[in-house]
Amino acid sequence: MRTKIIAGNWKMNKTVQEGIVLIEEILKSAGKLQHENLQIILAPPFPLLGMASALTSDYRFISISAQNCYYKNNGAFTGEVSPAMIKSTGANHVIIGHSERRMYFHEDNSLLSEKIKVALQNGLTPVYCCGETLSERNEASDYDIIKNQLEETIFSLDEEEIIKIVIAYEPVWAIGTGVNATPEQAQEMHRFIRTQVALKFKDDIAEKIPILYGGSVKPENAYSLFSCTDIDGGLIGGASLNSNDFVAIINS
Ligand code: PEP
Repeated sequence: MRTKIIAGNWKMNKTVQEGIVLIEEILKSAGKLQHENLQIILAPPFPLLGMASALTSDYRFISISAQNCYYKNNGAFTGEVSPAMIKSTGANHVIIGHSERRMYFHEDNSLLSEKIKVALQNGLTPVYCCGETLSERNEASDYDIIKNQLEETIFSLDEEEIIKIVIAYEPVWAIGTGVNATPEQAQEMHRFIRTQVALKFKDDIAEKIPILYGGSVKPENAYSLFSCTDIDGGLIGGASLNSNDFVAIINS
């Protein structure tokens, strides 16, 4: 049985002080949330990583993630943050390839592929995001787009590396719009992704890889999405900023 993962992507929200309040609220419910098959990931902005790691260090089922990283270990790259620096804060995951990074910062598959490799070399687990836009779905090129996003990034990894990856399927049209993919649409794409992993690697690798759904997950729709066979949890944006909603989603 694959571990269920609920990851909260805070995006560019919360000061250090606000982040402490949110984490403390989540931790109040932590005892009830703990389950051998559940992993919770919190992805606050860079300046909050050390604080978040320290506050959650007694909770083994909670991990801290960065939302991005650079593809070099160090050097004259003003404003960038390396995987080694992220690791040194106590965080052990990093989101790579979020559609907002692809869209606003023009990150392409070739750059993302570099980031994934350097993140892995530094002991971080990449949460690799893929997803199609609405026009790509309407043109029926959604499956080709996802296949390409996999082939040009994580499919160049070897078996030891791919097994460390978490995939997040996040249809761009569902992110922050209030319109989630239906459980049927999401399950179909998750099945497709798992099949592609099986064709490229092995069946047992594909069966082990967690594939999260992201895009307007709310307490009201979480259960129907997470009960699908190939959906192993969620990457939650807006609803992860409210402790009641986030905890309700985890309980789903
Ligand atoms: C996200 O940003 O990864 C996301 C899924 O956002 P939201 O839940 O707000 O749609």
